[in-house]
Amino acid sequence: MPEPSRGLLLAGVGGQGVILASMIVADALVRAGYDVKQSEVHGMAQRGGSVFSHIRWGSNVDSPLVPTGSAEVLAAFEWAEAIRWVEYVRDGGAVVADIRTIVPPGSCTDTRSWVTRYPTIDTGLFTGRHLKTRLIDASATAADLGNARAANSVILGSVAAFLDIDDVHWEAAIASLVPQGTVEVNLAAFRAGRTVSDAAIPQAVPDPEGFSGPHQIEIRHDWCKGCDICSRFCPEFCLDVDIDGKLVVVNSDACTGCRLCEILCPDFAITIRPPLEPAVAAGSAEALRSDT
Ligand code: SF4
Ligand code: SF4
Repeated sequence: MPEPSRGLLLAGVGGQGVILASMIVADALVRAGYDVKQSEVHGMAQRGGSVFSHIRWGSNVDSPLVPTGSAEVLAAFEWAEAIRWVEYVRDGGAVVADIRTIVPPGSCTDTRSWVTRYPTIDTGLFTGRHLKTRLIDASATAADLGNARAANSVILGSVAAFLDIDDVHWEAAIASLVPQGTVEVNLAAFRAGRTVSDAAIPQAVPDPEGFSGPHQIEIRHDWCKGCDICSRFCPEFCLDVDIDGKLVVVNSDACTGCRLCEILCPDFAITIRPPLEPAVAAGSAEALRSDT
């Protein structure tokens, strides 16, 4: 009699690369000799919506859908998604959850609403279920390796620690599917993810009142897909997406440093930094003048 198939879930929000990660898992399992079926949902993904993928594998898999309470592993790319999907994990199964906070746009009606509406990171969520857990800061680990966008490979490394799939298959899948030029950092991130320690759990999500403006707005245009989420939610109308789909700062003086844009962006494409000290700012202005 064939062994029953096993299941795994990956969940995150649009822009996090959940689908690519799912393809890597499926490819590694195929390379390991399994029959694999995969299903995904990414409805409003580009607008920060939920994205999830079911994967089942075994000697002969009929359906890709993982029933509630049966998954071997949940890989949650963001904290609220861990909460949303944890009931799919079987007792004794594993949860790999990135403690990163990406606030759903619908939770933001003003600069403060998301603080109360986004769920607190609470490890008590997993107690009583006999779940094995890894609560990691994948983007911080990936940033230490030189590219925060390799965070998903850190998560996959942690997932691999709970599955009996040889690393040679994982690494071949990563090398064949990640963008050219990022293979090395993704392989390094995968290996780091295998052994990464649990992150310190923040006591609360960052409080925008702790940041007063005007601040510096940094945009990584090569990572920004111009989805318009940050510009639509900026309460001070500092941002806009131009006719070419490029995010631009239209009023930096109005920026209060609330960081709403940063916590809404799933692509690590915008960062808010504290104001420059007056002397540094004057120096920058002088440097600019002497450049012209
Ligand atoms: S920086 Fe703004 S426009 Fe660019 S990807 Fe992030 S949320 Fe979308
Ligand atoms: S940090 Fe500045 S640019 Fe970002 S949402 Fe707040 S006011 Fe707008």
